[in-house]
Amino acid sequence: MNTSDYIKLEDQYGAHNYRPLDVVLDRGEGIWVYDTDGNKYLDCLSAYSAVNQGHCHPRIIQALIDQAQRLTLTSRAFRNDKLGQLYQMLHRLTGYDMTLPMNTGAEAVETAIKVARKWGYRVKEVASNRAEIIVCNGNFHGRTTTIVGFSSERQYKEDFGPFAPGFVNIPYGDSGALEAAITPNTVAFLVEPIQGEGGVMVPPHGYLKKVQQICHKHNILLMADEIQTGLGRTGALFACDHEGVRPDVMIIGKALSGGVYPVSAVLASKEILGLFQPGDHGSTFGGNPLGAAVAMEALAVLTEDGLINNAHELGEYFQERLTEIPSPYVKEVRGKGMLIGVELKPEAGGARRFCEALQDRGILCKETRQHVIRFAPPLVITRQEIDWALEHITIVLNMD
Ligand SMILES: *Cc1c(COP(=O)(O)O)cnc(C)c1O
Repeated sequence: MNTSDYIKLEDQYGAHNYRPLDVVLDRGEGIWVYDTDGNKYLDCLSAYSAVNQGHCHPRIIQALIDQAQRLTLTSRAFRNDKLGQLYQMLHRLTGYDMTLPMNTGAEAVETAIKVARKWGYRVKEVASNRAEIIVCNGNFHGRTTTIVGFSSERQYKEDFGPFAPGFVNIPYGDSGALEAAITPNTVAFLVEPIQGEGGVMVPPHGYLKKVQQICHKHNILLMADEIQTGLGRTGALFACDHEGVRPDVMIIGKALSGGVYPVSAVLASKEILGLFQPGDHGSTFGGNPLGAAVAMEALAVLTEDGLINNAHELGEYFQERLTEIPSPYVKEVRGKGMLIGVELKPEAGGARRFCEALQDRGILCKETRQHVIRFAPPLVITRQEIDWALEHITIVLNMD
């Protein structure tokens, strides 16, 4: 089979809910991925930051193999010897009292919504079924029907209603709008410290700090969705750390498993996550020993190999050098650490053709929204590799 055979198979038998670049990958190692013709590419997407530790990291793969040969799934009807150890590791790393493990990011966001509502009724004493959660325009929190119901993207929700009530949208980066939207029924504010899917939107400095003050003042939970920004991507363990902000509820996923296996989690205090009683919530696969073993190794790699610091130092370098590229098309370069967006002017004709040109030169990027190219390579990248990429990016940002 060749490239077009694989593409035909996907297109014939699979739902067309994505529009991937026409590159068929069959191998990955570190920052590099290889297509079925043997071409090599620098992965500048990292599976939306799930592969922060690099593709097929040997330590994480070994942890997967070792655990897969012992025990993979017990369900939470029984205990397993790995889950408690993962809880302890997350506690030591983050300081949060408790963890609730799930699989995908969307499930962790759903879990956070449930615990916020329960906290609202049991602790804040909001009247039954009246809880409101404030969210931001431009958000991306996943694809369940509840979550897309409060998206501001037409395509994410069109034809998928009716939607769950209880969400209030406000502009992103505007702390005044948050304070104005709070009512006695508000239980939580759900926010991304940087909107990744929204086009790498970085809020004004001080926004998160202000938001935290407002949440405390009005007794509402600050819930950070750090599924994409967390675990080193922005050059800190959490993007909220840049402002010294500690959300009441922290939502993580993606890089929690180094892209090897779906593992997500909600972290919070005992006062919050302790509200869940047996039977309140669950997941057959959530907290399974295979996922727990993989997540522990993925976290160990992240901290022991200095990846967070690498994201900070080389991310800053990458962003500075991108800013210096003379180009008729670039409107703005923005981001934090190794999460960088290059926004193109409308006359550039959309980011897609630039991503395709980069593909021809051995760099895989994906447009986010219509006009933004996101550069988010695995955090194991070196300065020399960034320099190599910059040469090609410079050429592509100056093509006709
Ligand atoms: C990817 C992502 C999600 C959803 O995660 P899935 O694993 O795809 O369900 C939620 N929030 C943010 C910020 C994300 O980037």
